Amino acid sequence: MDNELLNCLTSEEIRQLQCCTLCPHKCGVNRLKGEKGFCRLDLSLAIALVINHKGEEPVLSRSKGVTNVFFSHCNSQCLFCQNHRISCNTLDTKNLYPTVTEVTDKITEVLQTSENVLGFVSPTHQLPVMKALIREVNNRGLFPKIVYNCGGYEDVQTLEGLEGTVDVYLPDWKYADKELGRKYSSVRDYSQKAKAAIKEMYRQKGSSVLTDIDGNIESGLIIRHLILPGCTDNSKKVLDEIAWELSPNVTLSLMSQYNPPFQMPYSNLNRKITEKEYNEVLDFALSLGFHKIYSQDLTSTDSVIPDFDNNTFIRNGDS
Ligand code: SF4
Repeated sequence: MDNELLNCLTSEEIRQLQCCTLCPHKCGVNRLKGEKGFCRLDLSLAIALVINHKGEEPVLSRSKGVTNVFFSHCNSQCLFCQNHRISCNTLDTKNLYPTVTEVTDKITEVLQTSENVLGFVSPTHQLPVMKALIREVNNRGLFPKIVYNCGGYEDVQTLEGLEGTVDVYLPDWKYADKELGRKYSSVRDYSQKAKAAIKEMYRQKGSSVLTDIDGNIESGLIIRHLILPGCTDNSKKVLDEIAWELSPNVTLSLMSQYNPPFQMPYSNLNRKITEKEYNEVLDFALSLGFHKIYSQDLTSTDSVIPDFDNNTFIRNGDS
């Protein structure tokens, strides 16, 4: 058992790991005793990388980029995940920083060259670790804005416990089509759980993305949607749900950067999206009244993604 990490957790966080229901899988395993659920993690830091990341939405990245903490493993298993080398639950767990002190040192170092923004990527299954790291950073006199960058498969009660801790929610809303969640992400109830979760984020943050007078991010909700090839109907259903269940005043990030990381078992997923598909979804969003949209040029399939082997960045398609 990782005693250093255990000593950094509150009694509530320890209780959460003793019968883990952090996410909708509700595995109920005792992770302190080494039991593993869907995410295949027990008590472990499991941090694959801490790095300055300039690829987030401009209101977050601004000129200097954000400090992103990438967790290993995930509570969804999307076939096409661009971070599959760290997110796949059946591969070896990438754990770059052996101790809480070392990872806090790294976060502190990267924050010196970034905007005052600390993002946690795929944090859902590692929430106790995320909260412990925020306390450690705060103990060093640093109070960055906290971004919760997740896949959308979240538990409402767990999110309620994050009120006051998270400044910016940055969830994916991948599917409204239930079948696609099962086929592409190994999650049967993604659409239902994502809807409830993002409604809770909206309850906490509303539809405004707030900045201070200098443009520094304060708080908000930005909903990301990755358009998949051959799946514009799903994209339109997602947008419909956001417009009617939340509001067309929320900020959207419509992502064009889908790029199959390897041969997919579904033929439609073996290509990038077309300009026609992207524009069809964008036009539909505009027709619903969305007016705060981060759109992407289709050349954004070349967007930067972290290289988890070399602790740097690569571009999709680089060898
Ligand atoms: S965080 Fe992991 S162990 Fe806990 S409920 Fe989710 S998948 Fe299961």
